[in-house]
Amino acid sequence: MEDRLIFEKSREGHCGCALPGLDVPAKKVAEMIPAEMLRETEPALPEIGEVEAVRHFVNLSHKNIGVDTNFYPLGSCTMKYNPKINETLAVLPGLLRLHPYQPEELSQGMLELMYLLGEYLKEISGMPAITLQPAAGAHGELAGVLMMRAYHLDRGENRTKMLIPDSAHGTNPASTAICGFKPVEVKSDDRGNVDLDDLRTKCDEDTVGLMLTIPSTLGLFDEGLPEIAKILHDKGSLLYMDGANLNAIMGILRPGDAGVDVMHFNLHKTFSTPHGMGGPGSGPVAVAAHMADFLPVPMVAKTGDGYHLDYEVPKTIGRVKTFYGNVNVMVKAFAYILSLGPEGVRRVSEVAVLNANYLMEKLKKLYFLKYDRRCMHEFVLSGSRQLKESGVRTLDISKRLLDLGFHPPTNYFPLIVDEALMVEPTENESRETLDSFVEALAQIARESESEPETVKSAPRNMPVRRLDEVRAAKQPVMRWKP
Ligand SMILES: *Cc1c(COP(=O)(O)O)cnc(C)c1O
Repeated sequence: MEDRLIFEKSREGHCGCALPGLDVPAKKVAEMIPAEMLRETEPALPEIGEVEAVRHFVNLSHKNIGVDTNFYPLGSCTMKYNPKINETLAVLPGLLRLHPYQPEELSQGMLELMYLLGEYLKEISGMPAITLQPAAGAHGELAGVLMMRAYHLDRGENRTKMLIPDSAHGTNPASTAICGFKPVEVKSDDRGNVDLDDLRTKCDEDTVGLMLTIPSTLGLFDEGLPEIAKILHDKGSLLYMDGANLNAIMGILRPGDAGVDVMHFNLHKTFSTPHGMGGPGSGPVAVAAHMADFLPVPMVAKTGDGYHLDYEVPKTIGRVKTFYGNVNVMVKAFAYILSLGPEGVRRVSEVAVLNANYLMEKLKKLYFLKYDRRCMHEFVLSGSRQLKESGVRTLDISKRLLDLGFHPPTNYFPLIVDEALMVEPTENESRETLDSFVEALAQIARESESEPETVKSAPRNMPVRRLDEVRAAKQPVMRWKP
């Protein structure tokens, strides 16, 4: 595979199409378009034949690793397979060509779809009210925390601090800070649960709430959940659930029954929308009854046989997204839930948890496992043994996995596990695939002992070796200069 840009492949006069001869009088562009609208220099477009253009882009696509090409156990991200039928349904002309300014009476099908999706998510979460507006998980957090703020202010309380476990995703403190609150870290205990004594000490009448990922980013179900909810509620604080890991508990535990006051969904994770390249996503937020008055407007509502957009939410935080959210992602999530049904949704979580435990049991013989207990849909290994014995780091192990045909797990997160390798297999993978992943990690463990340089210099057979990721972020080259 060669690395030339399409601009470098350009040859004067090459062209991707053959137009028939002109059968009308020729006219200069300048005679038809006002001068101020004409560009002064020709655009620097590549000149290239059709077959070269096809090969160029197909070859580029093969340089990438994705769920459709390789096992992709990227913890916390739920890189599950996205059934192709969802894509087909999302581009049905009646859905695709719908304009957001089209009147409600001509958008009844889409409104019904959004309404029903909301009903399904309410059922799955055990929460009575929902908005589909936020564009992704982090945006859902923002909407959720704004509602928590509105809730406290409405009760005449000006609380200032948000509790966040030390295992949390970085978006949690970020959303907190954007809303003007102070994030306060809560420790984990030696089983990976929230340290209840630390929580009791830090939770007081100034506490907005706790942002808890369920199950946690350690892949563990917090054994103290009922007590956590009680500690918060006793102080008038709220329990926010980061729902990015919902894939572990669907159809088994309803967060609303566990005392959750607000939660977000990541439809693109749990409900199968491609999201490897950064979107679009969708982050609905469900709330308990005492928070329903603060939901963003408009809400999708049902009246008799029809559906409409309801702007009459008494104490709404306002609108958080133009129009109604990323509806194409909602269509995919709707199709996914409908095709599975209630039994299937539960089965997703059961198999996701089973797959993770199967892998964990095999891999803990090779790599250090800090929290050695039943995991949920993911678990966090550590490369600390390899680092200590042969100087091989988790980053090296991950790069070596690329050579062996696997997308690496999440690296160096959560922060409370040294040299973290966070593995989330998802429900989609066959036992053969899981076994081959174990074999690859076993090979890397052996190589780390016998030939550590092989691991440290990986990847060896990828289109690129080690990139300077910091420089790529700080000095991106976005423009081709001839
Ligand atoms: C992915 C993730 C988020 C952020 O969600 P986005 O949809 O990427 O904005 C928040 N928390 C956890 C635990 C996550 O895994």
